[in-house]
Amino acid sequence: MLLADTIKDTLSNQLSPGAVLSEPEALHKYCSDASGLHFIPELVVRAQNTEDIQTLLRLANAYGFPVTPRGGGSGLAGACLAHQGGVVLSLEDLNRIRLIDHENFLMEAEAGVISQKVREVAWEAGMFYPPDPAGMDLSTIGGNAATDAGGPACVKYGTTRDYILGLEAVLPNGECVRTGVRTRKGVVGYDLTNLLVGSEGTLAVITALLLKLLPKPAAVQTLLCAFPSVTCAMENVATIMQAGHLPCAIEVLDHRCLALVGELLPFALPAGKPSLLILELDGPATAIAEEMETIRKLMLAHGTIDTLPATNSSQRQKIWEVRRQVSLRIHDYAALYLSEDVTVPISAIAPLVNALPDYEKRYQLEIFAFGHAGDGNIHLNITTQDVGLADRAHAGVRALLALVLDLGGTISGEHGIGIAKKPYIAMELPEPMLALQRSIKEFFDPNKILNPGKIFP
Ligand SMILES: Cc1cc2nc3c(=O)[nH]c(=O)nc-3n(C[C@H](O)[C@H](O)[C@H](O)COP(=O)(O)OP(=O)(O)OC[C@H]3O[C@@H](n4cnc5c(N)ncnc54)[C@H](O)[C@@H]3O)c2cc1C
Repeated sequence: MLLADTIKDTLSNQLSPGAVLSEPEALHKYCSDASGLHFIPELVVRAQNTEDIQTLLRLANAYGFPVTPRGGGSGLAGACLAHQGGVVLSLEDLNRIRLIDHENFLMEAEAGVISQKVREVAWEAGMFYPPDPAGMDLSTIGGNAATDAGGPACVKYGTTRDYILGLEAVLPNGECVRTGVRTRKGVVGYDLTNLLVGSEGTLAVITALLLKLLPKPAAVQTLLCAFPSVTCAMENVATIMQAGHLPCAIEVLDHRCLALVGELLPFALPAGKPSLLILELDGPATAIAEEMETIRKLMLAHGTIDTLPATNSSQRQKIWEVRRQVSLRIHDYAALYLSEDVTVPISAIAPLVNALPDYEKRYQLEIFAFGHAGDGNIHLNITTQDVGLADRAHAGVRALLALVLDLGGTISGEHGIGIAKKPYIAMELPEPMLALQRSIKEFFDPNKILNPGKIFP
């Protein structure tokens, strides 16, 4: 126990009324995320304002206890869990949209706003916030920034970082700072915004974000293409782009995923064990209708066994709901489930998925492949029904990550390192680079109070 009763009393006295939670049921609510890991915090602080965060961090330095920031708790790497004890700092009550500016295409949102609400508020105001991580009904915009979340739209629009012009954040010493600019460009000094984005709550607590918005696309079209194999589907990602098309989504579901969710689709799939690409275009209605027809013909000439256009918005919504269901169904199906979000160059996607059956055989695993094919970010869900084979499954993960690195890829495209991927980070970053990164952490947080023990082995 790091928190003596006197510290708990001090926190209760100095923070907003009701901010400190210590009842077992309340602590239990903050003990897990979507990684499957569990650590019960000693205390939860639901910050009511920026001053609560400043006071908490100053007390953490004075008494030497860890503080772990938490948004929606939808992370897949255990990064928001208090695995070294201390306080979980929940940002969920900092949930105001402070500004929506149609003239300058800007939004300022507090960190605890649910990501989907950011998209909805922008849309209702006639603007577009493109990042669309599949867990956006659970995650917060602050958590998206801290993990640089991506989503299907990344292939055309990029990740969360591409829409953050500036941040308001509390540093580990309790100082509140603003980074970045209100303009579309700005190169004055180091880019601290981009240092904090993706830092998994280890360098600062983000309290608000200034977001860049875009004009709304006029229309969207969705097409499913079924292929005889996942390798054939992946080969066609490059075919589409090399022909000059840039869809706003190119998602893949392999035959294993379709065996779990295929019956939910609003279409009958062709016989056999097909894999699917979900293609989406956005832009002026007539132009994208013509372009989609060109892509459809291109796919038919390159091995597609069937094409299934979504003809109305309800079919489109169903397709995305099915895509969302995949990881949940795999989770329910498998006794042991390890979720990897490797990313490889586009030319290496087909060789990667082509190698999977060999790894399945060698390590006695079932590997489900789905996700953001358009940017090479394939979610490999590595499963076995025999929990006794956990060591073998972990060995399989390590071997697959080595293959990904050999193919020029990275071990995590969007989920981050947290606790779950710590054993593997040194496979990608050489020791001098790890040392440099540790020294940045040390500079921001010399007393190691903010989310300690995450990212670095
Ligand atoms: C069904 C499902 C689908 C998903 N799909 C995607 C996807 O398509 N793309 C993707 O990128 N991810 C996806 N994820 C993972 C997850 O939703 C993202 O990582 C998300 O960005 C986490 O946000 P959160 O608010 O839940 O953060 P949390 O899980 O609460 O925290 C994640 C990390 O951010 C830090 N953090 C949170 N808020 C702050 C803050 N205000 N200041 C500083 N640090 C903070 C935490 O300390 C932790 O390190 C999915 C998850 C699920 C369950």
